[in-house]
Amino acid sequence: MNALKRKLLDLIEAQGPLTVAQYMAIALGDPEHGYYMRRDPLGRDFVTAPEVSQIFGELIGLFFVQAWEDRGRPSKFQLVELGPGRGTLMADMIRAAGKLRPQFVKAARITLVETSPTLRAVQEKTLETLAANWTSRFDDVPLDRPLFLIANEFFDALPIHQFVKSDRGWHQRMVTSDGDDLRFAPTPDAVPSSVIPTRVRDAAPGSVIEVNPDATELVRRIAGTIAENGGVALIIDYGHVTTAVGDTLQAVKNNAFTDPLAEPGEADITAHVDFEALAVAAGEAEAVTSIIPMQGEFLERLGIHARANRLKRDNPERIAEIDSAVERLTNPKQMGSLFKALAIFEGRDQITPPGFDD
Ligand code: SAH
Repeated sequence: MNALKRKLLDLIEAQGPLTVAQYMAIALGDPEHGYYMRRDPLGRDFVTAPEVSQIFGELIGLFFVQAWEDRGRPSKFQLVELGPGRGTLMADMIRAAGKLRPQFVKAARITLVETSPTLRAVQEKTLETLAANWTSRFDDVPLDRPLFLIANEFFDALPIHQFVKSDRGWHQRMVTSDGDDLRFAPTPDAVPSSVIPTRVRDAAPGSVIEVNPDATELVRRIAGTIAENGGVALIIDYGHVTTAVGDTLQAVKNNAFTDPLAEPGEADITAHVDFEALAVAAGEAEAVTSIIPMQGEFLERLGIHARANRLKRDNPERIAEIDSAVERLTNPKQMGSLFKALAIFEGRDQITPPGFDD
């Protein structure tokens, strides 16, 4: 048995069943055995958009240059990335932005928010020529200036709670022990219905709903800062545009799905992002949110095809590779429609960030 499973079984024996959120937080973040804490999973277990092609990060860099110009080119701002992986996205963003507008890069105070010491070390290497800062929590980022923030495949890693509907109401789904195994079990008592989003409260027995209080709280803080100091946040992830029932908890190891309870700490555990819940949270903090396009549409509006053509012209030996990367990022059958984009911005200036116009 793996060491983290032993630890979880002992914890359950001592304290009783864990919520799915507690389980997920430990499986991903346990300082000793957590999935993200000791390894670099990118490329091995899964591949993210910035690792598919440099074009992804370059387009995001140009997105932020435009958003910054539209907001009067503030001479100092925070450029924050949540969960930067290998640092590839930030490196590509800054390279593209710096070529177009060196002043943008000069005005940016770059902060990477990362909990994993292993990935932070990789990021430090990738970004060694930049004057970047690191924190392990968004709350430690100094928020005294406009905030431009990017989070790609970050929110899916935040711990979700799951509730299961029975004919007596909604029950929290827990993780409990079963001999040497872990298994899901609902609490016997129903939770107050106020815990369940109104849109799905009347769902049929057997339905599962997921809520992510860490995600909505974080968005409230980001949006609150933007409402006060200005800026734009761009959130890209897999998920759904409106709050809906469905069990989306998933575990991935070696590019294949696996049982989320089988080998805690050895597989990436994530859930689909409820973009409606994030947009509602941003609204509560007095910020404005965009429509929520699919990634394919969004990247096309930012000019992915023109950018790819230029890259192909300069690198004719890479034509096939570039075509297949663009396909992977935009085709609805690949990452094009499962992934969505959301922009959060400040209401007074009403300048919709690029790629989000109807
Ligand atoms: N954005 C990157 C990596 C995505 S993987 C890319 O697109 O390639 C998720 C990233 O979020 C990893 O860097 C992981 O270590 C980090 N992470 C996960 N949970 C976190 C948390 N609670 N706080 C900060 N970083 C976290």
